[in-house]
Amino acid sequence: MQTWTCAQPGTFDLQETEIPNRPAGYSLLRVRAIGICGTDIHAFAGNQPFFQYPRILGHELAAEVVESEQFSSGELVTIIPYFNCQTCSACAQGKPNCCEHIQVFGVHADGGMREYIAVEDRFILPGNGLSADELALVEPLSIAAHGLRRGNIQSGEKVLVMGAGPIGLFTILLAKIQGAQVEVAEPNAARLAFCIEKLGVPAATQASYQTVIDATGNRAAIESGFAKIAHGGQYILIGLQKEAISFIHPEFHKREATLMSSRNATLADFRYVMDLFRTGQIDAHDFISHHVEWSELGDIFPRIHLAEMGVIKAVIKLDAGR
Ligand SMILES: [Zn+2]
Ligand SMILES: [Zn+2]
Repeated sequence: MQTWTCAQPGTFDLQETEIPNRPAGYSLLRVRAIGICGTDIHAFAGNQPFFQYPRILGHELAAEVVESEQFSSGELVTIIPYFNCQTCSACAQGKPNCCEHIQVFGVHADGGMREYIAVEDRFILPGNGLSADELALVEPLSIAAHGLRRGNIQSGEKVLVMGAGPIGLFTILLAKIQGAQVEVAEPNAARLAFCIEKLGVPAATQASYQTVIDATGNRAAIESGFAKIAHGGQYILIGLQKEAISFIHPEFHKREATLMSSRNATLADFRYVMDLFRTGQIDAHDFISHHVEWSELGDIFPRIHLAEMGVIKAVIKLDAGR
């Protein structure tokens, strides 16, 4: 089978590899669509913290069951790519998304940019009629859903989303579906225009918000967000960067603000997002700006992040029956 491998930062090669073995309790899946994520791009660029090479990237997946004890062959599925230990204190608390020993597929372990993968059955979710494009968007949408769940967003609540990359856009979309009054802070004119025109969300106008959500993963932006928290409000960090962050303690104290991080997503978030697709509340085509052919991935991948490409979300397609 064919596999795209990132042997070291800046390289991306198509190799011939063995179809993986299927241990008991695992299913063999044929990959059908892969969302390209900022994590993949950072890993390729060499600025993803704690990343080891060589690595097969890709964790936003739609796949077809080839061989399985639990699922029917031919069935389209997605996977929860956060492989957890089931024994640490986070897992014991029902928070496998922040497991102490987490192995994220395509980050800590080899991922899905290959024709076949073997995945433990407990991480596989039946697609129940969702398309490959929709299933490839479930994971990043679930990241956004989890951030909102952390904040227990209420209808009518004033929410500021900082950053309108895919995770920011999905956070805006879901916050709107949940009835929040959402505004966006985004310096890139094209991305801001997309928010205004496609999502009907205005640029930030208020001095402060009940909930501020960072989806930039940029230190300066994160630090600037503290001043936007309303008194009694909260700040949710979905984005991630490598440095220490700092804020003025008396300013934070006087607000009695709550600061929280949001890591990955849970089964409940995946199910919530899949239900939104099933009930027609999300249209994948609003967000997938580019389909990338499997064979042209090596050519496009190094350029995909460039502003001139105009990518909102890119999804790699693998034909059925390759
Ligand atoms: Zn991702
Ligand atoms: Zn654990």
